Amino acid sequence: MPELPEVETSRRGIEPHLLNQKIINITIRQHKLRWPIPNNLPQLATGKTIRAVSRRAKYIFIELDNGTIIIHLGMSGSLRICTHKIPAEKHDHIDIQVSNNKILRLRDPRKFGCVLWAKDTVSEHRLIKLLGPEPLGDTFTAQYLYDNAKKRTCSIKAFIMNSHIVVGVGNIYASEALFRAGINPKRKAGNISLTRIYKLVDAIKKTLTAAINEGGTTLRDFTGAEGNPGYFSQKLLVYGRKDESCTRCKQPIKQFTQQARSTFYCSKCQK
Ligand SMILES: [Zn+2]
Repeated sequence: MPELPEVETSRRGIEPHLLNQKIINITIRQHKLRWPIPNNLPQLATGKTIRAVSRRAKYIFIELDNGTIIIHLGMSGSLRICTHKIPAEKHDHIDIQVSNNKILRLRDPRKFGCVLWAKDTVSEHRLIKLLGPEPLGDTFTAQYLYDNAKKRTCSIKAFIMNSHIVVGVGNIYASEALFRAGINPKRKAGNISLTRIYKLVDAIKKTLTAAINEGGTTLRDFTGAEGNPGYFSQKLLVYGRKDESCTRCKQPIKQFTQQARSTFYCSKCQK
């Protein structure tokens, strides 16, 4: 599943090809994604200039003068930049062609992604309005997380994966950040000191920033027809490393299930 670093890498990859270009054509081959692509999207967006390509949580915003196209990659979606010379394949559901003749193409085999239209301020859209702060933004601080964790009895891992609390901390990054901060993923959110929460916020920011930088170095080309733009392998410290030795203490990494998701951690380094 594309996580926040992949989405941000995708945004950075497509932005230079789209910015200040006029949309000249939109071809929808499959309306039925997680929510249907609006029938009138071509009428609304064709002829309009792309003023910004931005991101909030795992949503990419193509901002026009009269509204915003909201794109989510779901479980398996990816974006690429191509031209007419590259024929669309089975899972290429929508093409947005711009005035430099490049095409933004969404491929989504599992169809859990979406392409929607926000007429008014996009931050007020129903999918966006209730989202917590961006993990790399200034408002996501240790004090903020600590204040919101008070009296919470859920696990710290579930807490940081709650998009009302902070967006974009997916399953992989939650495990990685908790390892970096030395916090046991099962520990109750409301039972962690401010000092340790400070370490955790720092770890979340560092983990995500490192992944975005990694994506930027491995995924320079968003214009190819092959491959999976937006996905990349990363150097992970605990995730997917069950029974391998901890990079700090050499004990085997443990795995267990939390909220139906795999958690990986070191029982010696994380308390
Ligand atoms: Zn360890």
